[in-house]
Amino acid sequence: MRTLARILHDGYRHAISAAMLISLFPLCASAQWAPPSSLRKVRVRDDCARTRHGIGLSVQPSPILPNGEIFFCQDRARAIDAVRPGASKFFLVHEYGHLALHTRDEAEADEWAARQLAAAAGGKQILEAVVLHFLDEATRFDPLYGSGLDRALRIARAGGIPETVWPPRLRGYEQTRAAAVAQGVTIRLRLAPGYTNRAEMIVSVDNQVIGFLTNRLDEPMVLPRFGAGLHRLNVSDVWLFHIEEDGKRFEIARRLYAETEFRLTAIRQLALDLGYDRENLTIAVKAL
Ligand SMILES: [Zn+2]
Repeated sequence: MRTLARILHDGYRHAISAAMLISLFPLCASAQWAPPSSLRKVRVRDDCARTRHGIGLSVQPSPILPNGEIFFCQDRARAIDAVRPGASKFFLVHEYGHLALHTRDEAEADEWAARQLAAAAGGKQILEAVVLHFLDEATRFDPLYGSGLDRALRIARAGGIPETVWPPRLRGYEQTRAAAVAQGVTIRLRLAPGYTNRAEMIVSVDNQVIGFLTNRLDEPMVLPRFGAGLHRLNVSDVWLFHIEEDGKRFEIARRLYAETEFRLTAIRQLALDLGYDRENLTIAVKAL
């Protein structure tokens, strides 16, 4: 039979354990995803009109809106979750990514969201669900995001989902892409040395939008099959930045446009050389 002292001791120990658990919980690496402390004041509003019935939209901080703002369409989130349960959370984290990185680069926001969720409790299931969501939309293309397949591949890689558990369609796409980079015509962005060290743009060839090109990643863009001969390449919605070593970015210019012509020959690896002299953006396609 336990003594009163013993009972009191046990009760005290349980109380301590509970208090410790509660205080340790927020420090635990596997806590459910929550925005980093610098983004806790960001207001999230359910407003499908503002997102134009897309799922989310973020507004960068400004003097009148010092924390920035996220608009999130709950109707759209419910529709996504009805097919791929849990997937909608990824899109919310993606919007926080734009604010955390002060970027409009959709791939960068995707990668940030994937890394954040990979480190959070339940995040792996969200990543797997959103990969399936993008495979459902495999061929849907937007120049700023790429295709559904591009987004699925990007999220699977950045989220550290082991290739052994990738859906077969995703593995097939990765192989097709690797072959296209190895055998197709590719173009790499090169910036003249100087203060401008980051450029982002939408590339079109012969008035066909190819995609979003940035020197953030050392990855070439694959051009679709074009015949030999003369082609017209243009870059639109070009944004230029100076990025400091700690990642801080300073905008230099936005919404620039330039065009050039190039001749496609047997050379498959091309460079897109970009120059900017404070007024004029110039581009030229060269063989690598
Ligand atoms: Zn985005």
